[in-house]
Amino acid sequence: MANIREQIATTALHVTRFRELLKRMREYRPQDDLEIVRKAYEFSQKCHSGQTRASGEPYLAHPLEVALVLAEMKMDPVSIAAGLLHDCVEDTSTTIVDIRKEFGEQVAHIVEGVTKISQIDFASREEQQAENLRKMMLAMVDDIRVVLIKLADRLHNMRTLEHLNPERQNKIAKETLEIYAPIAHRLGMGKIRGELEDLGFRYLDPDTYRQVQEAVSARRKQGEAFLARVQQFLRDKLKEAGITARMESRIKRLYSIHKKLVKQRITVDQVYDLYAMRVITHSVQDCYAVLGIVHNLWRPVPGRIKDFIAMPRPNFYQSLHTSVITEDGTPFEIQIRTEEMHKIAEEGIAAHWKYKDGPVSAQDEQRLAWLRQVVEWQRDVSDPNEFLSTLKVDLYPEEVYTFTPRGKVVVLPRESTPIDFAYTVHTDVGHTCVGAKVNGRMVPLRHKLHSGDIVEIITQPGHKPSRDWLSVVKSTRARNKIKHWLNIHQRERAIEIGRKLIEKEARKYHVSLKDIKEEDVQRVASDYGLGRSEDLMAGIGYGKYSARQVIGRLAPGVNEPAASEERDGTFTSVVRRVFGGDNNAIRVKGHGDLLVYRARCCNPIRGESIVGYVTRGKGVAVHAVTCPNVVNLMYEPERRIEVEWARDEDTPSSYPVKLTVFCDDRFGMLKQITGVIGDSKSNIRNIEAKTGNGQASVDVVLEINDLKHLELLLGGIKKIPGVHDVQRLQKI
Ligand code: MN
Repeated sequence: MANIREQIATTALHVTRFRELLKRMREYRPQDDLEIVRKAYEFSQKCHSGQTRASGEPYLAHPLEVALVLAEMKMDPVSIAAGLLHDCVEDTSTTIVDIRKEFGEQVAHIVEGVTKISQIDFASREEQQAENLRKMMLAMVDDIRVVLIKLADRLHNMRTLEHLNPERQNKIAKETLEIYAPIAHRLGMGKIRGELEDLGFRYLDPDTYRQVQEAVSARRKQGEAFLARVQQFLRDKLKEAGITARMESRIKRLYSIHKKLVKQRITVDQVYDLYAMRVITHSVQDCYAVLGIVHNLWRPVPGRIKDFIAMPRPNFYQSLHTSVITEDGTPFEIQIRTEEMHKIAEEGIAAHWKYKDGPVSAQDEQRLAWLRQVVEWQRDVSDPNEFLSTLKVDLYPEEVYTFTPRGKVVVLPRESTPIDFAYTVHTDVGHTCVGAKVNGRMVPLRHKLHSGDIVEIITQPGHKPSRDWLSVVKSTRARNKIKHWLNIHQRERAIEIGRKLIEKEARKYHVSLKDIKEEDVQRVASDYGLGRSEDLMAGIGYGKYSARQVIGRLAPGVNEPAASEERDGTFTSVVRRVFGGDNNAIRVKGHGDLLVYRARCCNPIRGESIVGYVTRGKGVAVHAVTCPNVVNLMYEPERRIEVEWARDEDTPSSYPVKLTVFCDDRFGMLKQITGVIGDSKSNIRNIEAKTGNGQASVDVVLEINDLKHLELLLGGIKKIPGVHDVQRLQKI
């Protein structure tokens, strides 16, 4: 336990650092009220009181240093406050609700975003997925300040990494090199990227790091002297030419050198840009003038001149680069740019999202166009932080990034469901998926996934895809796989039904199937314009061809009845089979084997105009076109399906229909009504009458054959003296 004197000393240190923070902010934001920053500091202090870092120092040091990094990036007070609070929700009992209450929506939203990203363990994922992980992080934020705080957080953690054990060091360093440094690069933040890379390199590959470091140290003194000489020489020449420019020189960063050594298989002395000088001018014109002067003084290395002013890099980096060799044979690089270009290169929020060698997709093009626009705005806004605080981003609006339980990234279209996820993992996983857990909780299959979700698919052997899934899935892959499965299995079923119908017809006409040769079936199939005998069976199963006709052609002795009549007869039996004995015989056009039922909300009867609606897991609901529900249901036109009444005059069907008769309350009325019903040969299932004020309403449930029957009956009842109206109730 730290003694009191030590505690006082660290508290004093924090106060000093906090004053430093306020001082810096006042320098770049003299007009701003920094009260929110002061309040956040106190809040954070209370929040983390008693907590220590791995180094043993009080935890508060971390958020404070993060805030100082953010101040160096000249961030607004909201970001600095969020930086001070960024670990409160993650590590303490404080909640987002507390933060929102104390600091308002903006700060809370940013802290929430940082917390969300912190909860994802990027390091343990597969290396080749780094690109997806970077995209995922960007997809998860809608405020770029979240990313900037995360970068500042990581920078300070990397600066203090020595206190962790080697295993943690390795993991965090790897994550830094794979995720955070590239994101800093994308956002055009050259300075932070450089430091993150060197720190990551140092912990991930300490031996190589030391080698490169030693090689550079051995040359540093000499190198610095060389650069000073060259710089002075060039300064004089520029002065003669009347160009004012500022100069900087540097020795290349260790990680950049290392990458070059590995990639080009060279030694440190062969790195052309180990030493580099920057000339920062006042105008683009001067940049090109300086380039001319440089090439006059030293011999340029062929192929090393790059004009990133005319052709900016995708992250909006602009500069002229050239490598030259002095008379004594030392190569060095010169970068020439304006002050503005320099600023963007060092700190720029300006970013590009997808750095690809291949052709740029239309989407990328759009993103870049948007970004260019953003950069334009940034130039117009006098205070870059004002720009920052108004910038809302949706960097990958069309994708969500999810994980398998093992940490593989699965990229899906936005609004995708666990079914999409399952089909992306494997077709069989898709076919047999019955449920899903998202972040450990059971969800329905139509649940919409979000970036960062960990999705576990529950499968059941033998489970089959449902047609309903088609209206739920968002990915083309899932849709195609489901359709493919349905097509194959519908066809298989149709073939099976076709075979059975042929067998039945054959029995009826005493034709032995054994006598029918495969060639004959093949011949009949080609008569119908079909390639294979299976196609013929499927056609019979679907109800396209009559089994009796086909038998007639296969066994010419059989008497072939008139085609049209026969077709219908056969069709009915197909329908019956298909519908599992439902004698309401409704057929779905083109989908002979769907389960069909009459919707209970409207109970359509034969002869009425009907429409089918594919329901989830229950087949096709058949509604009357006049059903009020139809209007509401049809918002998903994909689920609408054409249905028609099968003609089946021989087996009269009957449907319960409920009528309400409004009439005078007089003697004999009920008898007259039941009389009309009896005359029309309709059975009464139930009848009830209510009376009052000399009026009556009679509810009657009848058995009706079809629409014609119903209309006849309605006409009859309306003719009864004293009957004012008859209404059909769709619900029974
Ligand atoms: Mn932190």
